[in-house]
Amino acid sequence: MNLVIDNHTFQYETEKLLRVFFPSTKIAVTDARNDEADYVLTSLSPLEDGAEITVSFSLLGQTAAKTLTVSREEAVFGERDDDLYERRMVQILYDLLRELTGYTPPWGILTGVRPAKLMLVLSNRFGEEAATTYFQTELRVSKEKTALALSVAKTETPITLESTPRSFSLYVSIPFCPSRCSYCSFVSHSNDQAKKLIPRYVALLCRELEETAALAKQRDLHLESVYIGGGTPTALSAQDLRTVTDAIRRNFDLTPETEFTIEAGRPDSVSDEKFDVIRQAGATRISINPQTFNDDVLRTIGRRHTSEQTKDALKMARRHGFDYINMDLIAGLPSDTPASFRHTLETTLSFDPENITVHTLAHKRASTLVTKQLETGSVEAAGEMLSYAMRRLTEEGYVPYYMYRQSNCLGNLENVGWAKKGYACRYNIFMMEETHTVLAVGAGAVTKLRSPFSVDLERIYNHKYPYEYIDRFDELIERKRRILTFYDEVFAQEGG
Ligand code: SF4
Repeated sequence: MNLVIDNHTFQYETEKLLRVFFPSTKIAVTDARNDEADYVLTSLSPLEDGAEITVSFSLLGQTAAKTLTVSREEAVFGERDDDLYERRMVQILYDLLRELTGYTPPWGILTGVRPAKLMLVLSNRFGEEAATTYFQTELRVSKEKTALALSVAKTETPITLESTPRSFSLYVSIPFCPSRCSYCSFVSHSNDQAKKLIPRYVALLCRELEETAALAKQRDLHLESVYIGGGTPTALSAQDLRTVTDAIRRNFDLTPETEFTIEAGRPDSVSDEKFDVIRQAGATRISINPQTFNDDVLRTIGRRHTSEQTKDALKMARRHGFDYINMDLIAGLPSDTPASFRHTLETTLSFDPENITVHTLAHKRASTLVTKQLETGSVEAAGEMLSYAMRRLTEEGYVPYYMYRQSNCLGNLENVGWAKKGYACRYNIFMMEETHTVLAVGAGAVTKLRSPFSVDLERIYNHKYPYEYIDRFDELIERKRRILTFYDEVFAQEGG
């Protein structure tokens, strides 16, 4: 399919919307129409007090066209001319494609990663009613998703306000996994070659923790939360896990109130010994991720564990006294069905976890799912699963507390963290809303320096692969010294 861009700069939004309707179609962007191929033409002609916008297409054997004259006076919430014209063009495209396909994407024309953030900003500036009306009429967001965005915005607001100008959270990356799941493109290493790197990796990770803690202390930064993720942190041996958690406790000021999450994602990676280490480390929250309780689906996605193993891991965790557990699920997995997803969700609820995170399957370019072109669930089925989850979790007293959308998610649908009252994971909110600095250590980790006085964000990238991390460690430590000058600059600016 050709997407023709004529005299405007709205390629990103128009292309993204086309992908929502035609997720597996190749889209070529061009500035000239080719009548032999399916095409969508989008065109803009400036007028004295506005613009004329045309969208036309020949798709699936049908043609349609619409031209609209847009006046500058139609701008909503003080939007710039270009934002107005872009919104109008994408609205026309959305309405025409909806008619053509019979599919109504529930997030309408809203393509951003953080819908709740937009809802929060608009509600604060223009009021809740105006913001929800804007979502539903101008952005074509469904009533259900508008309510979801509003609910997330309301839950996360008080937590974001806990952050102070010197707050930071710590992220620790363990990029190793027992095996690679088919939908994952994460730089996680599961082969024996990579396992040989673990001792060196753990030693350097401890050094990076020490150096990072020293930098944080020099600028008097205050630790809010700790998150050990990956990969699968519990892919490490109990001894290595202890070495890492000891280094965290030795170098950073953790109090009993500091939220401390360790992902124990893969049920085939946990043991009594590792849970002992995690308890002794003072972790307050763990994550055990079923993804599905359907063994056929687990086999299809290459998880190499059974649903029984997940249940055993959850029981083991409760026996060890963990009273703050998250469970991750995915809607839209290959060979999964709405009925089987309902079973997964009900089984999950039977464990009464404090958090449940419901993801939508994303097509990640480097994943086996994409490279081997495995068939996934349909957009409609994924949408049905999410609606079911939303209804049941709400009935069971969970509230949605954080939300984001990944690129290439089925139907541009969302990932939502649900929490029992008082159990919203603070790290997830801080990280998603970019409330304060996240100092990140380990391969593939990205430190985000957040100015407390503006929306500015500066990133320091660690080397992606464990072997690079090991080989170029000194370079990385040097880069991290930017933490000092960053804070010198922001506080000097504020002071003067
Ligand atoms: S366990 Fe998680 S990080 Fe590891 S391969 Fe599977 S999805 Fe990716």
